[in-house]
Order: sequence, then C-alpha cells, then structure tokens
Amino acid sequence: MLTNSLQSLDVAHHIHPITNLRRLERQGPIVIDRGQGIYVYDDEGREYIEAMAGLWSVGLGFGEQRLVDAATKQLEKLPYYHVFSQKAHAPSALLAAKLTELAPAGLEHVFFTNSGAEANDSVVKFVWYYNNAIGRPEKKKFLARDGGYHGITVAAGSLTGLQTNQKGFDLPLPFVRHLSRPHFYRAGLPGETEEAFTERLLKELEDTILAEGPETVAAFIGEPVMGAGGVLVPPKGYWAGVQEICRKYDVLVVADEVINGFGRLGTMFGCETLGIEPDILVCSKQITSSYQPLAAVLMKDFIYQAMADASEKLGVFGHGYTTGAHPVSTAVALENLAIIEERDLVARSKELGAYMHAGLAKFADHPHVGEIRGIGLIAAVELVADKATKAKFEPFGKVGLRFFDHAHEHGLIVRGIGDSIAFCPPMIITEAEIDEMLRRFKATLDDITAWIA
Ligand code: PLP
Repeated sequence: MLTNSLQSLDVAHHIHPITNLRRLERQGPIVIDRGQGIYVYDDEGREYIEAMAGLWSVGLGFGEQRLVDAATKQLEKLPYYHVFSQKAHAPSALLAAKLTELAPAGLEHVFFTNSGAEANDSVVKFVWYYNNAIGRPEKKKFLARDGGYHGITVAAGSLTGLQTNQKGFDLPLPFVRHLSRPHFYRAGLPGETEEAFTERLLKELEDTILAEGPETVAAFIGEPVMGAGGVLVPPKGYWAGVQEICRKYDVLVVADEVINGFGRLGTMFGCETLGIEPDILVCSKQITSSYQPLAAVLMKDFIYQAMADASEKLGVFGHGYTTGAHPVSTAVALENLAIIEERDLVARSKELGAYMHAGLAKFADHPHVGEIRGIGLIAAVELVADKATKAKFEPFGKVGLRFFDHAHEHGLIVRGIGDSIAFCPPMIITEAEIDEMLRRFKATLDDITAWIA
C-alpha cells in the first residue's frame, strides 16, 4: 500500500534498476531521505544502519563535509570540462597520477569513465584495440567466471556471470567464456581438498584456453574477491595459478577492483591481498565514496604504447564519454583518497574487519548458518536448510529475500544474495557500531529462524 505521494510518483514514473518492478508497484519503495555516518534515514524518520555502504561503495559513510566542500569548490571554479581533443584539467591529471602511485606496480596509465560497467566495456574495447594494433586480430575472447559481476552494459553484462542480469536481455554475447565459480564450500566435491579444488579450476582454465585456441583468447577478468556473486573468497593458490596459466598463453589479466579497491579488504587494492599483478585494473565506487560517479581503468605501459601507436596511425583514439574524467568527480576522488590516507582507513579496515569477523564467528553454530566468509570489511553469511548436508532452502533465495525485507524492521540494511546475507559497511564504522549492526542482525536471524520453523 503506497502511503505518500512521493512513493506514488516514483512508482508511476520511475523505472528502477535491479528490482522486481511489479513487486515495487505493489509495495512501493522505501524513500531514503538523508544519511549521516553509517546511518541513513527514510522519509518517515526511521533509522537504518547501512551495512552495505549503499552499493558496497560509501567508504567514508554519509555526510563527510570535506567531500561536499571539495565538490563545491570545484563546481565554483570549473563545473565542467571535457578531456577530448587535447584538453586537460587539474583534478583529472592529479588523480591519474595519484592512482598510479597507489596501484600495484606497472599500472602507469589511466582512463576515466562514469561507472564500473562503462569501465569494463572500455576494457573490452581497449583489449580488442590493443590486439588489432599489434597484429593479432583473432585474439579477442574474454574468460570470466560464473558468479562474477562486472556491470550490466552490453559488453560488461556479457562478462558478468549472473543469470539475473542476462536473462531476457540476449546476453552474454559470444566473445565470453564463463569458467566455474571459485567457491569451495559449494563447488568442492565430497572428499576433495581445497588444494585439489584449486587444481581442478586451474585445469578447467587451461583446458578452455587450449580448446578455444590460445591465439583467440585475449584476457581473463575477475574480482580478487567476488562481491555481488556472494562475497566469494577464492581457494588457496587460485590467483597464483590463474596468472601463471594466463602468462603462459599470453592472456591479459584484468582485476576488477570496483568493490575491493581502496581498502575494503584491508589493503589499498584487493590485488595486494590476493597476490595479483594485473595488466589492467578497474576501480570505482570507493574512489569517491560514490559521492560522485566515477570509475577508472589503469593499464600497463605496453598496452598503452600499442594503443598510442594505433591512434597515430588511425588519426584518433576514438573512445570517450562526455562526462568521463569529470572535474567535480575527480576533485572529490582526490579529497576522498586524501582522507583515506590521513585517517589510515586501509589499516583500520583490516582491524575492523577482524573485529567484524570475530563477531560473525559467534553465529557459526547456528543450525541454519552454513558458511561465514569474507576478508576485511566484507562478509557474507550463507543460510542453509540443513547444516550437515549444506542443502539449500526451497526455493533458493526465498529466505535471503525475507531476511532482507525483515532486516528493515530492525533498522538494518543488508543484502540477500540467494540465501547469503552480505555485509560491507562504511570503513568509518566503529567497534561499537559493529556490535550494534550484529545485534540487529541477530534480532533478524532470530525472527527468520522462527519463521523457517
Ligand atoms: N564491477 C564490479 C566488481 C561491481 O561490483 C560493479 C557494481 O557493483 C560493477 C563492476 C559495475 O559498476 P557500475 O554499477 O558502476 O556500473
């Protein structure tokens, strides 16, 4: 039942992303009105702990005045300019330099987009452009993983390995091959060790490259720790093995750090935690704490040099977005990164992550908790019908959805991914606030347990 005119207007005219549109029509949206710290408030004044930092993204929490001031200052000085056809402006040049300083070694060149999906679409085009430039026009296929999320535009949505983003949209396009999701708890065979599981995944990778023909396989893309697929931490040795095989067949390694980047795992980039040395790195979300839309593609020099030569030959590097490298977004990103460094939030995220995981571990004996996973300030609790057999609830996802809805009543915003409950709180959260977040989680879990029974 819709209770206020804002909800009615929204339902009548606004098409929402990643939403069951008929369910929205029936129930109406929760209208979020304001935010402060880790809290948001709806238009009826109800308080919620934003345990997902919005969409895994508001690293500094809500109401950070320094970001507001940085945006205001830039809006007053130069609210817009583009970087096409040999124009530049200070915030984007400074941010490009800053990102190359923070990123894993060798990523020296940066291209800016407005969103993570645009960035991944750009990666696909850059890799194709690169391989055309160096005379390998056949080397165009991408390897991605089931459960991976890389956005929803046509190319990025093809890299994504989640059916909900593809069903009905004629995706994925045929340039992508999806490999198994690296989730030992669910995909490990009875009696299989974690190491043997890793070997099986690596064999699948190598077999796929050989079956497709290494001369046709251009790149492997993966999130160091998968986010939207359910906060999946890969098994031991996985990334080292992936890189070894990719190097053997001259396949570029692309790290999608859109969620992992800027401290989420307790290191500046997830690549450090997982030991990845990518050829291309994609970042977004916490780059501005999502106060402004911005994403970036970082690449190694050898890719850039081939692209630069090609642009000279073709007359132009014919790729770009009107609002890419936006001066306000890049100014906000510079201030956001300065705050992360000044407050040592990367180290803090590691400490707080350990605190959050210790708190979550107390639920390990609960009869419906199958697996608790994550690294740093990102986690998921997988709820199962039967702990011993790992049997899922029927239908799969029903309990997760119920949990998500019900958590609102306890003043908690989490995400249900299937029947896994994800946490990704702002990195400015305190120990006391983590306690309160887990208290609200427990209250919801108690209600859901009673409902299941
Ligand atoms: N890559 C990853 C790992 C993501 O988690 C997301 C969004 O959640 C994207 C890419 C797409 O970003 P955007 O929603 O800004 O297009």
